[in-house]
Amino acid sequence: MLRKIDHIAIAVKSLDESLTFFRDRLGLSVEKIVEVPSEGVRVAFLPIGDTEIELLEPLAPDSPVAKFIEKKGPGLHHVAFDVADVAGELERLAGQGVSTLDARPRKGAVADVGFVHPRASGGVLVELSQRKKP
Ligand code: ZN
Repeated sequence: MLRKIDHIAIAVKSLDESLTFFRDRLGLSVEKIVEVPSEGVRVAFLPIGDTEIELLEPLAPDSPVAKFIEKKGPGLHHVAFDVADVAGELERLAGQGVSTLDARPRKGAVADVGFVHPRASGGVLVELSQRKKP
């Protein structure tokens, strides 16, 4: 069961540049900025209501987000849904013939996550996210 939008991730060339819009013009606050070397990104977390915007800046030109920007330009990277059971959801979707990028959940920093292929969802990468209990 999908419970809510966990976050919306936007690929940006430069956090500093994009924060002049999201923080300084829209007025969102930056909760934290974290480097995730395993994913090749620096991420700014901007909470809004009970969800958040994540700005993804590539750390290196060969990182997945850099390649995404090269191919499609900066913009919407993925939409993440909060789920109670990411392994179960991946299995349920695969059982319906939905193309997923992960057969099993992968360990993220704050959640176990699994991705659905954009070709299954009209072009938008979909993340299923099961937050670890604090
Ligand atoms: Zn995400």
